[in-house]
Amino acid sequence: MTENYVRQSIIDHCRKMNALGINQGTSGNISARYEDRMLITPSAAPYDEMTPDMIASLPLEGEYGVWDGPRKPSTEWRFHLDIMRSRPEVQAVIHTHAIYSTILAIAHKPIPACHYMIAAFGGDDVKVCDYARYGTKELSDNILKAMEGRTACLMANHGMLATGASLEKAMWAAVELETIARQYYHSLLIGGPVILPEAEIAGVLKGFASYGLQEKRS
Ligand code: 13P
Ligand code: ZN
Repeated sequence: MTENYVRQSIIDHCRKMNALGINQGTSGNISARYEDRMLITPSAAPYDEMTPDMIASLPLEGEYGVWDGPRKPSTEWRFHLDIMRSRPEVQAVIHTHAIYSTILAIAHKPIPACHYMIAAFGGDDVKVCDYARYGTKELSDNILKAMEGRTACLMANHGMLATGASLEKAMWAAVELETIARQYYHSLLIGGPVILPEAEIAGVLKGFASYGLQEKRS
């Protein structure tokens, strides 16, 4: 995989998240690891007009926040970088303002074990991180805290983020998170969900060790 391939793939996934209806406009941002750097969307750039050379690049180690590129990196480079630095298994991070995830985040409502798919995010809930203004180190710290033992979180009064071992897997997780947010929201309107017991989620988690978006057979 060349660097240019990963840059183009980031753009393709930006367009996909908008086409899928899990993000809108220039909201949201996507990063992917490439060798010892993090590649990330530039700030406030329309995805339809984005080209691979516009993607910003930051070193994973070394001086925090120095960047290369013709345009400023996403204002959210801090949480993308902090997640990648603290979690070697994460290859990609997708942040969106998906409607149902954001509604729950606005109401500061974590998603409980209302559906077995909650286990896809590492445990029996998806938490809402404490509010901090977009682009701040405080927001990044709050996100890392809410993501302890989890691969995704909701961001208070803002949106959501999902991580993955590839861009495809992070996108799969973002779509699944918005789906369960939508299901949970609607279940609240008809009397509230019946929550699955902890032991059941533990069992599903075991099964999920071998479940998920599969690699192509070679
Ligand atoms: P950027 O355009 O700077 O990536 O910001 C969008 C966003 O969603 C901020 O949280
Ligand atoms: Zn945002």
